[in-house]
Amino acid sequence: PSITRGVTVDIPKVSWDDIGGLKDLKKKLQQAVEWPIKHSAAFARLGISPIRGVLLHGPPGCSKTTLAKAAAHAAQASFFSLSGAELYSMYVGEGEALLRNSFRRARLAAPSIIFFDEADVVAAKRGGSSRNSTTVGERLLSTLLTEMDGLEQAKGILVLAATNRPYAIDPALMRPGRFDLVLYVPPPDMEARYEILRVHTRNMKIGDDVDLRRIAEDTELFTGAELEGLCREAGIVALRENISATLVSNRHFGTVKSSLKPALTRDEIE
Ligand code: ATP
Repeated sequence: PSITRGVTVDIPKVSWDDIGGLKDLKKKLQQAVEWPIKHSAAFARLGISPIRGVLLHGPPGCSKTTLAKAAAHAAQASFFSLSGAELYSMYVGEGEALLRNSFRRARLAAPSIIFFDEADVVAAKRGGSSRNSTTVGERLLSTLLTEMDGLEQAKGILVLAATNRPYAIDPALMRPGRFDLVLYVPPPDMEARYEILRVHTRNMKIGDDVDLRRIAEDTELFTGAELEGLCREAGIVALRENISATLVSNRHFGTVKSSLKPALTRDEIE
C-alpha cells in the first residue's frame, strides 16, 4: 500500500466471509456500496442517484472498519483511510489540506471509498456559543461538508464513516446527499460469536475437543476483536506449554477465557 502521512490507500483484501455474523448488515452495505460501483450503468439507466455516505456506529471492536474494507474489496475500490483523531491533531490547516487532498486523490482513483475512523472527532456538533468561532473541528467539518457536497457530480466515490458516539455527530452531516444511510453495528450475538470464532480458527490446528458453540455461549458481551484475541492467545498458551505442540486444545481456550473479562457492559449496548 502507498502511505502518505495520515492516509493509506490500497484495495483491501478482507472479504465478506472474513466477517462473522451481521448477515443483513452485509447485504445492506452490498446494496449501498457494491451495486452503485459495479452496476453504475443500471443506476444511470433508471435515474437513481447512489448513496454518497454511510455512517456505521456501534461499540469498538465490532468490525466497523473491517466492514468498510470488505465493501471496498467487494467493489474493487481504492480504500482511503483517514482517522478523525489524526486529522484533528494536525497543525493548523494541515488537516483540511489532507482532507481535500484525499478527496481529490479518491476522485482520480475512482471507484474509491473514503473511510473515516473516529468520525465524531471531525464531525462533532458545532458549538452554539460563539457564532464566528472557527475551531479546528469546525473547519474540518466545513471542509468535509464541502467535499461531500462536491461528490454529487463525481462517480464511484463513497464516504464511509465510523463512530461509537453517533449522538456527537453534527446533524448537518445527516442531510440528504451526505450520510443517507446510518447503520448500527451491534456486538455479536451467540450465533455471530460462533461464526467469528470459526473465522479466526479457520487457519488454526484445533483439537476435536474444542467446541466453538460452547465457547460462543460462554462469551457473552465479547466483541469480535476480543474473540479474535481469544483464539490467538489460546494458540500462544499451547505453545508456551509445549513449543512443539501440534494442536490447540479446549483447555488452552479455557485458560485464556477464564482470564478475560469483556470490556463492554450491558448498558453500553444501544
Ligand atoms: P474501532 O471502533 O475500535 O475502530 P471497529 O468496530 O472498527 O473498532 P474492527 O477494527 O473492524 O472494529 O475490528 C477489530 C478486529 O476484530 C479486527 O481485526 C477483526 O478481524 C475482528 N473482528 C471484529 N468483528 C468481527 C467479526 N464480526 N468477524 C470477524 N472478525 C471480527
